Amino acid sequence: MKVCKFGGTSMATAQSILNVKSIIESDSERKYVIVSAPGKRFSSDIKITDMLYSAYQEKFETGSCANNIALIRTRFVELAKELGLDIDMNKYVDEVEAGILKSTSPDYAASRGEYLSAVIMSAVLGFDMLDAGDVIKFKHDGTFDSELTNDLVKKHALNAKNGLVIPGFYGRMPDKTIKTFSRGGSDFTGAIIARGVGAKVYENWTDVNGFLVTDPRLVDKPKNIEVLSYEELRELSYMGAGVLHPDSIFPVQIDKIPINIRNTFEPNHKGTMIMASTKGYDIPKVTGIAGRKGNTTISMKKAMMNAEIGFCRKVLSVLERNGLSIEHVPTGIDTMSIVLSDAGLKGVDENKLIDDIRGAVNPDHIEITHSLALIAVVGHGMANSRGVAATLFNALYKAGVNVRMIDQGSSELNIIVGVEEKDYNASIKSIYNAFFGC
Ligand code: ADP
Ligand code: ASP
Ligand code: MG
Repeated sequence: MKVCKFGGTSMATAQSILNVKSIIESDSERKYVIVSAPGKRFSSDIKITDMLYSAYQEKFETGSCANNIALIRTRFVELAKELGLDIDMNKYVDEVEAGILKSTSPDYAASRGEYLSAVIMSAVLGFDMLDAGDVIKFKHDGTFDSELTNDLVKKHALNAKNGLVIPGFYGRMPDKTIKTFSRGGSDFTGAIIARGVGAKVYENWTDVNGFLVTDPRLVDKPKNIEVLSYEELRELSYMGAGVLHPDSIFPVQIDKIPINIRNTFEPNHKGTMIMASTKGYDIPKVTGIAGRKGNTTISMKKAMMNAEIGFCRKVLSVLERNGLSIEHVPTGIDTMSIVLSDAGLKGVDENKLIDDIRGAVNPDHIEITHSLALIAVVGHGMANSRGVAATLFNALYKAGVNVRMIDQGSSELNIIVGVEEKDYNASIKSIYNAFFGC
């Protein structure tokens, strides 16, 4: 059987929900349906999940979440009405409001978009609803408990007689409180369920014709990728290709379940197949291009750094003590740079961090630079093939972009370059045209 996850783009309007219904009803193997919270209906619209985070913030600041709840209520009541459903959404939204007022973390609030979506979808399909909190479990330290979850999914979902709708994005802690995954985490829920029930394919339905070579918001109508390996997917999604959560491969790769990205609005398009290996397929030198803004570099110089045993370890220990995870560490003979994401640096005193590094290794020069964008060019095809780096750097040169950092993974699966944020869009366009343009 197949596990199908429908993202916020597919849950946004009554019409898109009817598309979901016809997709499910067109194939009796589509038995497990994971849903996200309703997303944006038009570009200036607000996602339900964002409204729910705002509701929690509102209660935190004013003691009430009435303003945001009113907006959320309107969306769900209208959806149920337009779909002709006989469910009292007001009652459900009242429960959510009461729950937010009692809760002490934003996770409960954030999870309710998926919950209410699942209530609607199970009524539309006539499927049972399985609450994700009953099967998706976290450990005391807040990490995901994959084995307990897998047992519970087998117990509660595998032998279900009827089709099941399961809300994405959240599970429960041992003390029964709700905990969410990181943003976009319904993709991960779908992968967990696919593993638990032993699906033959995990279909991830969204609003584009599969994984595209690059972000369609930056390049007009980029080509579609027919096949992608788990490794390539991980690189591209970690580096910013927002179409699939980067952790989605972990549950499915255990049993090599393929992921098929499909378009709810063009259901006959076969989309992108993501699998353990793409050997035997005709693969291009470069499979995809992804990137993200919001990075910071700490660069150091010290004469004879190469001969100073323990230099790197001491610098990395300072970062570890500050709870910072590192994106990249490009090094030269007497230079070392550390690339960190701005999100990870939030709340860290940068002056103190620099002083700590000075104290640990006494560099001749140290500086911190913000506004770095990272761009990854990814593909198994680049191993042993000539000219990829030349094409990449020529494209950046042609776009008048100054390259601030270069890093090539030892597996030759990617080349990562750092450019200034202001050059990001032009860089992506120029790289895309160099590899895929006519
Ligand atoms: P969903 O609501 O279905 O989870 P998302 O908004 O999370 O959908 O992901 C789909 C969006 O990802 C697309 O509409 C597209 O704008 C964006 N996107 C960014 N990079 C890519 C890419 N390489 N391929 C396809 N879509 C991409
Ligand atoms: N609704 C959540 C979010 O907006 C999870 C998801 O859509 O996958 O991040
Ligand atoms: Mg998504």
